[in-house]
Amino acid sequence: MSRFTLQKQQVIDACLTLAESGYLAGTGGNLSLRLTPELFAVTPSGADYYSLRPDDICVLRLDSLVQVEGTLKPSVESAMHAAMLRHKPGMQASVHTHQPMASAIALLNTALPVTDATDRAALGERIAIVPYAPSGTVFLVHRFKQCLSDTVQAYLLKNHGVICAAQSMGEAIRNVGRIEAISADFLRRHIDGSAHLAAALRTLTLNALQEPAVR
Ligand SMILES: [Zn+2]
Repeated sequence: MSRFTLQKQQVIDACLTLAESGYLAGTGGNLSLRLTPELFAVTPSGADYYSLRPDDICVLRLDSLVQVEGTLKPSVESAMHAAMLRHKPGMQASVHTHQPMASAIALLNTALPVTDATDRAALGERIAIVPYAPSGTVFLVHRFKQCLSDTVQAYLLKNHGVICAAQSMGEAIRNVGRIEAISADFLRRHIDGSAHLAAALRTLTLNALQEPAVR
């Protein structure tokens, strides 16, 4: 039997929970979990989450990304997860999702403020935005590293999705839900604001048409 079977099963269970919630969009998204100070587990590339077995989970070295366990190819975002776990030694899990509401926000070039005290304790004072680079490339890893902050645990990847860190895989799953709720709330207020603005413009236009022209 391979090592770390319990932790690998934990990764698979988390994949299934997130997939059931619609946060992984097919085979999009990938998960990682610190195993030792030197090693981390990561989901394989293009995996069907529903057929994953513990032996399918890849184990990589944190420093070099050399694969030490698993026959499948590791996720194309392994380097991004390694960067997260290296930068945040207190964090055990790094999760990348294509969750719908936050991915919509990631099309905008905006960070999201985090106002609720519980959310702030888990995510930090804001959800940061990482400038666009194609997924699975060194360019994305480079941009992500430039944005990494000790006090921010959640990052929108522009035009792509989300990556967040947590002290456990369970807490990472809760963070995914928190990010989605904050994003949905932002979108709701943004759309409401736009509707109010449109109504105000309509009223102004009508008033202007009804006013007698002064020449
Ligand atoms: Zn992705």
